[in-house]
Amino acid sequence: MRSRIRALALTAACAALAAPLLTAPAQASPAPPRTGFEESDGARWTSQPEEQRLLKTVDKATDRVSVSRIGTTKQDRPVQLVRVGERRTASTVLLVCSQHGDEPSGREACLSTIRDLAYAKDKKTKRFLSRTTLLFVPTANPDGRAANTRGNSDGVDINRDHIALQTAEGRALAAVIRDREPDAIYDLHEYGATPKYYDKDLFDLWPRNLNTYGAVHKEAKALSLDYVRPAAEADGYTTGTYGIWTDPATGEPVKQVAGDGQERILRNASGLKHAAGLLIESRVDPLTDAEKNDEALNNRRRVHSQVSALGGLFSYADEHRWRLEAASTASRLAGLRDRGPVYLGGADNDPAEPAEVIADPACGYRLTPQQFADVKDELGLHGVTVKRDDGGVLVPLRQPARALVPLLLDERAPYHLVTGQPDIDC
Ligand SMILES: [Zn+2]
Repeated sequence: MRSRIRALALTAACAALAAPLLTAPAQASPAPPRTGFEESDGARWTSQPEEQRLLKTVDKATDRVSVSRIGTTKQDRPVQLVRVGERRTASTVLLVCSQHGDEPSGREACLSTIRDLAYAKDKKTKRFLSRTTLLFVPTANPDGRAANTRGNSDGVDINRDHIALQTAEGRALAAVIRDREPDAIYDLHEYGATPKYYDKDLFDLWPRNLNTYGAVHKEAKALSLDYVRPAAEADGYTTGTYGIWTDPATGEPVKQVAGDGQERILRNASGLKHAAGLLIESRVDPLTDAEKNDEALNNRRRVHSQVSALGGLFSYADEHRWRLEAASTASRLAGLRDRGPVYLGGADNDPAEPAEVIADPACGYRLTPQQFADVKDELGLHGVTVKRDDGGVLVPLRQPARALVPLLLDERAPYHLVTGQPDIDC
């Protein structure tokens, strides 16, 4: 018996020695890592340690992916950015996954998609990733995800913080948008249904804020109507416009319950920052008996519908690359022309009241040294440039971030940071 074991051990040792010589690349590439959601077939969400293991493995496995820390939450969790791409590209798409911690499907879709893109060998994906860089924030609200809450650990809704920038999470996103200048920003959420009136598998919505540059607005709508919805529908999912109830018999709009133009929501802030923004929401609630009887099945529908829509986003990013970039560039240049009204309210489906329009804006806003000290960091994160002179600080409108300036500094703007003094003699 003993000699047999020894003989077996010897054979194994020989095989181990010989292997590198005889069969050229002896190490079979390890199987791509799976998410906790996949491991459990949708019975539970991927834990944060599992997420870290997956990202570490993927980061190590290929140059196509790199993971970096862009912020740290109050409870000391990392806010991470995952870059996926073959090389430096002009075209960049940012995906913000689960800003709301209790809406986990977007995060799951992002994690499995990062992994799939990292290991993809097909020509089409390789070519896509050689022309477009994808930036994922796979868990945009790590403390909220840990506690399964909408807000962060202070109870602040990160998706209402894209003007004030009071949260570490909102600040981290603003810095990425300023530094990487994404041409499109895709924001993944989930929603609660009102059956019959408001219960599609997916709803999406573009920036409704009236300051969004026309060509950027058009691109965001094309992303939704020509790509994301058709891709999801081809996979059997129903789609519609976020915030709009429809008559179950006719499909006609009945009323609007969400989805306005307020600038502190990422979808709208994206438009103000020259990116075709799109909010996407998967339905949480089970509607079929099969889904009601099987939570994992319901969860898989939530995640798979998001993955399906991502296919539409990637086709769009590939096919509209030049149009999108041209729109984004034109939007920046429009700010430098410093012409036209700035809107403090309204939406693309709700005209601004006269009091919400600055028809002929001042050339800038003047801040006292104290006011500037109070908002200096936020202006910097928004990418707003300022001019200093002996009277204090002037924030000119003539800059790419033109429309943002009054929204941040005019006392009439609903979410202004500080009340600047309009200047007509810059
Ligand atoms: Zn949400």
